[in-house]
Amino acid sequence: MLTAVATGVDEPLTITEREVPEPGPGEVLVRITACGVCYTDLDLLQGHWPIARFPVVPGHEITGVVTAAGPGVSWPPVGTAVGAQFLGDSCRHCDYCVRGEQILCPRKRITGIVMDGGYTEYAVLKADFVTPLPEGLDPVAAAPLMCAGLTAFNSLRQGGITGTSRVAVIGTGGVGTLAVRYAVAMGARVTVIGRSHRGESAARELGAERFIATQDTDPGEALKAWDNCGANLVVNASPSTSAAVATITGLAPDGWLVLCGYDPEPLILPTRVMVLNRLHVMVNPSGSPHDLRDTLEFSAAHAILPEVTPIGLPDVNAALDGMAQGSSGRRSVITFD
Ligand SMILES: [Zn+2]
Ligand SMILES: [Zn+2]
Repeated sequence: MLTAVATGVDEPLTITEREVPEPGPGEVLVRITACGVCYTDLDLLQGHWPIARFPVVPGHEITGVVTAAGPGVSWPPVGTAVGAQFLGDSCRHCDYCVRGEQILCPRKRITGIVMDGGYTEYAVLKADFVTPLPEGLDPVAAAPLMCAGLTAFNSLRQGGITGTSRVAVIGTGGVGTLAVRYAVAMGARVTVIGRSHRGESAARELGAERFIATQDTDPGEALKAWDNCGANLVVNASPSTSAAVATITGLAPDGWLVLCGYDPEPLILPTRVMVLNRLHVMVNPSGSPHDLRDTLEFSAAHAILPEVTPIGLPDVNAALDGMAQGSSGRRSVITFD
């Protein structure tokens, strides 16, 4: 099978032939249909993941079909179309695992960072950590839902979104667009925050009632004027920590700032405003298996799928280079025939 292998930091991926692996106890063999190229994969190659175990096959936005099951695996059956995500394995017996919050497990293992991921024709995955795809969900367009979609959906949920929430989404890229579409479909009112007005018409078409361009408006003040109260929830889908912090003064009392994007800069918070209004700040990792299940069911029910550019495995280094140079837009998704 054709496989792309990360051999170390600042090295291009090696495209090579490998034997199709055998699933062990608790594992399934999945023939990969598609695997999205995520910013985390670029992060891995840039050396931002000290836990990485090179050589490793990157990729954690996986869709595919179960083609074999290891000893003791009764579910999901061979032939099931499944998705797999960033969270690849956990201990199964800590307090978090038994509560269904495996993403918080201290011994969790990350797909494509410490375990082989989806930049390959076949992958062995933990049976407990694959999720059946809802009927009718296009497995190529759905691949980025496994990370970008899950992170956007779960950030809204962790921030306590309701049908009466005022929600601000920072960023007009892939994750931001999904967050806006989910928030609108959940019945919330939405403001989109961008640097310029470039994404304004697209944001309004998706259902945003307001747009704030930070090049000419202070986002904290503009949000605070929203119903003379502020946003109940801000989701940062931009890669900038300071862009997120600039909105804190625009939160309503008891409001949440949830970061799914951030940079290595320290988070410096206006604690006086925060204590007077009991504000909350969270940095949200992707989600647990139940969160992925809900993300996929919600996406299928509301026809929320990202726009993607299908590429072949040999094109993956070029796609990663394009990402590093900040060529934004559609998500690249590796597809296999
Ligand atoms: Zn655990
Ligand atoms: Zn990701």
